[in-house]
Amino acid sequence: MSLVNLAEILQPAQKQGYAVGAFNVVNLEFLEAILEAAQNRQSPVILNIAEVHFRYVTLENICPSILDMVSRAPVPVTLNLDHGLTDEGIARALDNGFTSIMIDASKLPFEQNVQRTREVVERCRSRGVTVEGELGCVGGDEGGGLDAEADSRLYTDPAEASDYVKRTGVAALAVAVGNAHGRYKGEPKLDFDRLGKLRDAAGVPLVLHGGSGIPDDDFKKAVRLGVAKINFYTGMSQAALSAIGQAVKENGHGYNDYPEINRRVKNAVRVVVEHQMRIFGSEGRVGRRS
Ligand SMILES: [Zn+2]
Repeated sequence: MSLVNLAEILQPAQKQGYAVGAFNVVNLEFLEAILEAAQNRQSPVILNIAEVHFRYVTLENICPSILDMVSRAPVPVTLNLDHGLTDEGIARALDNGFTSIMIDASKLPFEQNVQRTREVVERCRSRGVTVEGELGCVGGDEGGGLDAEADSRLYTDPAEASDYVKRTGVAALAVAVGNAHGRYKGEPKLDFDRLGKLRDAAGVPLVLHGGSGIPDDDFKKAVRLGVAKINFYTGMSQAALSAIGQAVKENGHGYNDYPEINRRVKNAVRVVVEHQMRIFGSEGRVGRRS
């Protein structure tokens, strides 16, 4: 199946009431793990590469592999720039075949966020690439800081969301409703009431960032309230680290130990991704009509 843009992968999700997981690629093991999980679960999937991860994953090297693997994958896939920040980062993503750009201008004042986001939407349009915007400030630090908290003063305002979507032409809207990047301090508390209002006001699929650590039942409720894309990374990273720790403890001196660690990392990440696909309701959706 082919590479599709964000609007195309989210439209059936919104209509049928499930969310597509957006999982971050930081190397070949993560890439293989995510695509194998999608194939095993017959689930559509979004591959995220974050601009803050460009120092770890070189687009020019990995994207040819991604595009080739996706062309052979039996599920729809979207290649998304996660938290696009700079014009250079966005240009590199577009030149390397991305079909979706998230522009994160959420730290700018409202009018500047609208202007910046609209600029990116216009720039992407001729290539058939669709855009995710963000309004309000998701807690934590997408640059990798752990122990995150959400600040309720920065939650997304439904009236602003309606205005923002109309004026920018985004295909999806990332919202701040108590979600946070990294690892939560204590139990995350999502503002479901606000989420319902945002769904009605925005009129486009909503995106939940900072998915790791949110209880399964809260995910299901958020999906019922209009969330159609969920970003998930920290949980994969933690699974990879504990697989490495375990493997090093068990051996760590043999000729094949390093590739064996990579194999275990890939399996651990695949298991986490498959679990999330079940929770998000995207499992078994490929080939199903209405
Ligand atoms: Zn994010």
